[in-house]
Amino acid sequence: MMSEKINLLNLNQQELEEFVVSLGMKKFYGKQLFNWLHKKIVRDLNEVTNLSLKDRELLTEKAYIPFLNLLKHQISKIDKTEKFLFQLEDGNTIETVLLRHKDKRNTLCISSQVGCAVKCAFCATGQGGFVRDLNVSEIINQVYTIERRLVKQGTNLNNIVFMGMGEPLLNLTNVLKALEILSNENGINISKRKITISTSGIVPNIEKILLEKVPVELAISLHSAINEKRDEIIPINRRYPLEDLHAVLQEYQRQTKRRITFEYILINNFNVSEGDANALADFVHDFDHVVNLIPCNPVEGTEMTRPSDKKIERFVNFLQNVRKVNVTIRREKGTDIDGACGQLRQKNKKPTK
Ligand code: SAH
Ligand code: SF4
Repeated sequence: MMSEKINLLNLNQQELEEFVVSLGMKKFYGKQLFNWLHKKIVRDLNEVTNLSLKDRELLTEKAYIPFLNLLKHQISKIDKTEKFLFQLEDGNTIETVLLRHKDKRNTLCISSQVGCAVKCAFCATGQGGFVRDLNVSEIINQVYTIERRLVKQGTNLNNIVFMGMGEPLLNLTNVLKALEILSNENGINISKRKITISTSGIVPNIEKILLEKVPVELAISLHSAINEKRDEIIPINRRYPLEDLHAVLQEYQRQTKRRITFEYILINNFNVSEGDANALADFVHDFDHVVNLIPCNPVEGTEMTRPSDKKIERFVNFLQNVRKVNVTIRREKGTDIDGACGQLRQKNKKPTK
C-alpha cells in the first residue's frame, strides 16, 4: 500500500543516505538521489537514470516521491499574482501564492499547516480552526511544484515567505527540517536568509530559533501595540503579551543584528487612531525595523473592514513624518483572485476528516 512506503521528501540528506544503505545500496547513492529529488526535482524514480534498473525497482518497491494535486490555479489580471490550491494525500487542501515582482524576482508564499489554532479574528484560516500540521514533504513540495513551472518559463524562485495558511512556529520541527532541506547546497539551495518566517509571536519558539542559530528572516504579525487590543484580535497575546515579545525580539536583534519586519493590518475604527500610531511607534523604535502596513481584507463572518484611503494616509503620514517610523504599505496583490491569507480555501471549503 502507498501509505506504507517511505515518503522520500520527508527525509533530509543524512536520512536518505541511511535509507539507501538499509536497502543494501552504497551510501553515496543517497547523496546523488538527494540531488535528483531536490535539485533536478524529478517526480518519478524511473527518471533517476544514474541508478541501475535494479536499484530503481528496489526503491520503487519501498519508497515513493509524493506530489501535490493542483485543484485550482488563478492568475490575477491586475498584477500577475498566481494562486494555487493544492490537495494533499488525505484530501485536505492548502494554498500557495506566487508573487511576481517588477524586477523579475519571484517570491513564494507558502503554508505550514492546514488551518490554524491561533484563531486571529481577522484571518480566514483562523476562522476554520486547526486541522493538522503539514509534513516536511508537503511544505517543500509547494516550493518544488512552482519551481518546476518557473524553470520551464526560464525563471525561478528567489524568496520564500511562510505567510500562507498556518502558524509556522507551531509546526517548528517540520518547518526547521524543511528549511534545512531547502537550503542544502546539494538541493534547490535557497539560502535561509532568503526565507522569512512570519509569526503571530510564539515567544518560546522564537527563543528556540535563536538557540539553534537559524539565520532566517523574521516577520512579526503585530497588528496592535496595545495589549488589550491585541488580546482581542490575536488570542495568543494573552499567553505571550507584548512585553515578552518585545524582550525576545530585543535578544534576537542583539544576537543576529537582523532587521525585523512588523506586519500591521489596518482595521477600520480599531487600530488606526493617533494613540494606536504612538503605541506602535514606541514599540518598534527600539528595533532596526520596517513596519509593513496591510489594509485589512474583508473576511466573511467578521465585521472588519479597511479604513478609507484618507484615514490610511493620515495614519501613514503621522508614523512617517511625526514619529519617524520606517513604514511601507503593502501593495495589494491579487485582490481580484482573493490573494489574501486563507481566502481561496475558504471558498472551496469542504468538510475535512
Ligand atoms: N501565522 C503567521 C503566518 C501566516 S498569516 C502569522 O500570523 O504571521 C500571514 C499574514 O497574513 C499575517 O501577517 C496575517 O496577519 C495576514 N492576514 C491574515 N488575514 C488577513 C486579512 N484579512 N487581511 C490582511 N492580511 C491578513
Ligand atoms: Fe493563524 Fe496567522 Fe491566521 Fe493568526 S493570522 S489565525 S496566526 S494563520
